[in-house]
Amino acid sequence: MPRAQLIAGNWKMNKTVGESVALVKELMPRVTGLDNVEVAVCPPATALHAVGQALAGSAVALGGQDVFWADSGAFTGMMSPPMLRDVGCKYVIVGHSERRGRFGKPDESLGPEAMRVFGDTDASVNLKVKAALEHGLVPIMCVGETLPERDEGGADNTVADQVRAGLAGLSAKNVAGIVLAYEPVWAIGTGRACDGPEANRVIGVIRSTLRELFGPEVAASVCILYGGSVNDRNAHDLISQPEIDGALVGGASLDASRFAQIVQTASVIAKNTRKD
Ligand code: PEP
Repeated sequence: MPRAQLIAGNWKMNKTVGESVALVKELMPRVTGLDNVEVAVCPPATALHAVGQALAGSAVALGGQDVFWADSGAFTGMMSPPMLRDVGCKYVIVGHSERRGRFGKPDESLGPEAMRVFGDTDASVNLKVKAALEHGLVPIMCVGETLPERDEGGADNTVADQVRAGLAGLSAKNVAGIVLAYEPVWAIGTGRACDGPEANRVIGVIRSTLRELFGPEVAASVCILYGGSVNDRNAHDLISQPEIDGALVGGASLDASRFAQIVQTASVIAKNTRKD
């Protein structure tokens, strides 16, 4: 079976409620009918409910940018999987590098207290992935190496280790239902995307890790995105690669026309190529 293709927009800490609703209203007609590619938007938490309502009846899915693993309780500022379901989320981003540590590494200038906000670890990512799945959310689990790790030749090991740790204790059936995103930390928000063949190669490493852990069928079926400075100009080079099943888009998802162009590119590629 061909793998699902997904273009997801991570709006990060951008857009008020009014701006968020305006953005999806502009986006929806531009992606209507492109049903060979799934489209998702991940607005900030304050706008989830309003965007969910604006999307009602459309094919564009809603996603959260992070989730906590408990269902409820004394966890100030956090959001639980049932809360995300309640506002209509299908997806949730987990383990984005901006949450694992500022741009992949704790920013020591902020001091140990401030750094706790950015404190996702492989262990917390694993708890979040499990909690999301238990509540019927599809986690989009992000992995990716920093520039020093790449320069030292450690990119493949870093992503393989993050995949192993993030998916520890999950069944093959669970893993078949998740989305992974390869997001090299040095490419996020820098305007310097990884080139298509290299992103394809690293995603091949991720798929081999899945094969080793969960078997060939699961490895062949999991949707794996590329993320890191994807825009309407480089989308074709990236998404046309055989291992790449779509994109997690940050900056370019804040503009309806640019984001829709990425979706349209993915749709043309999906029509002409079968990835499995
Ligand atoms: C992201 O936030 O996941 C991302 C890839 O951002 P950008 O596209 O802006 O690099």
